[in-house]
Amino acid sequence: MKQSAMFIPTLREVPADAEIRSHQLLIRAGFMRQNASGIYSILPLGKRVLAKVEKIVREEMDRAGSSEMLMPTLQLAELWQESGRWSSYGPELMRFNDRHGREFALGPTHEEVVTSLLRDEVKSYKKLPLNVYQIQTKFRDEKRPRFGLLRGREFIMKDAYSFHATKESLDKTYEDMFEGYRRIFSRCGLDFRAVIADSGAMGGKDTHEFMVLSDIGEDTIAYSDKSDFAANVEMAPVVANYEKSSESAVELEKVATPDSKTIEDVSKALNIEKEKCIKSLLFKVDDEYVLVLARGDHEINDIKVKNYLEARDIMLAPANEVKDIIQCEVGSVGPINVKNVKVIADNAVEYIVNGVCGANEDGFHLTGVNPGRDFQADYADLRFIQEGDASPDGEGIIQFARGIEVGHVFKLGTRYSEAMNGTFLDENGRAQPMIMGCYGIGVSRTMAAIAEQYNDENGLVWPKQVAPYDVHVIAVNVKKEEQTEVASALYNTLQDQGYEVLYDDRAERAGVKFADSDLIGLPIRVTVGKQAGEGIVEVKVRKTGESFEAKVEEIPGLIE
Ligand code: ATP
Ligand code: MG
Ligand code: MG
Ligand code: MG
Repeated sequence: MKQSAMFIPTLREVPADAEIRSHQLLIRAGFMRQNASGIYSILPLGKRVLAKVEKIVREEMDRAGSSEMLMPTLQLAELWQESGRWSSYGPELMRFNDRHGREFALGPTHEEVVTSLLRDEVKSYKKLPLNVYQIQTKFRDEKRPRFGLLRGREFIMKDAYSFHATKESLDKTYEDMFEGYRRIFSRCGLDFRAVIADSGAMGGKDTHEFMVLSDIGEDTIAYSDKSDFAANVEMAPVVANYEKSSESAVELEKVATPDSKTIEDVSKALNIEKEKCIKSLLFKVDDEYVLVLARGDHEINDIKVKNYLEARDIMLAPANEVKDIIQCEVGSVGPINVKNVKVIADNAVEYIVNGVCGANEDGFHLTGVNPGRDFQADYADLRFIQEGDASPDGEGIIQFARGIEVGHVFKLGTRYSEAMNGTFLDENGRAQPMIMGCYGIGVSRTMAAIAEQYNDENGLVWPKQVAPYDVHVIAVNVKKEEQTEVASALYNTLQDQGYEVLYDDRAERAGVKFADSDLIGLPIRVTVGKQAGEGIVEVKVRKTGESFEAKVEEIPGLIE
């Protein structure tokens, strides 16, 4: 592409409202412009990077067995009412009425749409599993849009959904998608970690986030310096002071049996008054935290002692109930303790929400919930994991790092299929809810995360696989015919050989061209200047700054 014909509005000054490097540079280098808060136009160079990220995403999704489709952005309120999220999703959901007064939302995510689609089409286990994805603009009215594309109100997401007849089938697909995510972010050149995550408003079970390591990340990751343990701190184990209840700990064996059905059994077994059970039954036994809870006359109907790291999976109240409870009784905060200690009772969530957490803001995402600050004072002995704590898996010491969430995989289970009647007939002809997984990638956020990890004082430094072009050819002085001749011949030759070339043929001063070229950050720059007559050009590697002279005919061989 000839640069003279391309829309690349570069800026010398740092835009006042851009706090972080990627945001500043994507604006300055002419990759995007803000239209309104959290809303951007992606300009030609930015669009090329996005397309490359999308290509990587498509290749890896196809490889993982997901097939691309496209669902509507306009979503009927009825679907969201069926799932219960019309009321629970909160103000992030952008709502409007059509001319007939029917209520709609602009899709922030597509569980409802995809579940309604599949429930009408898939009747038998023979048609399962299925895995579909789309790449599409999503809308979320974020409270604090910021950092450019990192947190927009309109952004591009890849979202995939899988449907299964069995849990094993979901496990297999989850693994394949997990591996696909690893490959995607590796191919993007990102330094990232997969961490145990918070299922937030999704109401899921197993879930991991893919975090790009970066000081400006909004999430904090707790990881072990010796093992693979890594978790979002909002999700990492709460460390409890168990001394209070330790005299009861030895009795745990008695509690954790299928015979302990009611709160009475528990209180008897532990010799604790029934009313106090809620507050008392937090134990640490052999390095495992166990919380035994039940509501007055409710049964403890699923007593299990699970591996510590699985504790966050144990959400014995069905996910939709959890959400209802949170919504109607507290209005905001999620079941933090459920995910951080073992819960051995149905309806535990309600107690935890009522008894331990306090509401601290709209929406029940747990970000920013802080034991000690948000919890009642006498529960201040529950705290998040901290740097220097022993890793929950027993190997190594916990360290913290900041991360940008670029991807998120969930085992949703039957949360949506149950609420929306998405059933299939199993081998025995019985109707069963489809078991679901969902898998998101912030495509535009990924582009910004790459820019955040790849820049220097002069501008962006794109990794080759996502750079808008492979080579920047610069004719230093377009008034000199020998320069433009050599430069345009090289431009054509390189393109013939399959390279993507940006050719700076503008009548600008050399200083402007070089500064723009550094800002834009293509991997290789070939400068055609004074020695053009002798067929000598200068090659510069953007990443290392290394530069050397070469004969123009050698150039194609020098670029990989
Ligand atoms: P966050 O915690 O940053 O608000 P999320 O957990 O709400 O993100 P998900 O619902 O998991 O987001 O959506 C899938 C992916 O979409 C995220 O992993 C992230 O990469 C991307 N994403 C979410 N919100 C935004 C946004 N406002 N702007 C850009 N990308 C986003
Ligand atoms: Mg969010
Ligand atoms: Mg998140
Ligand atoms: Mg997420």
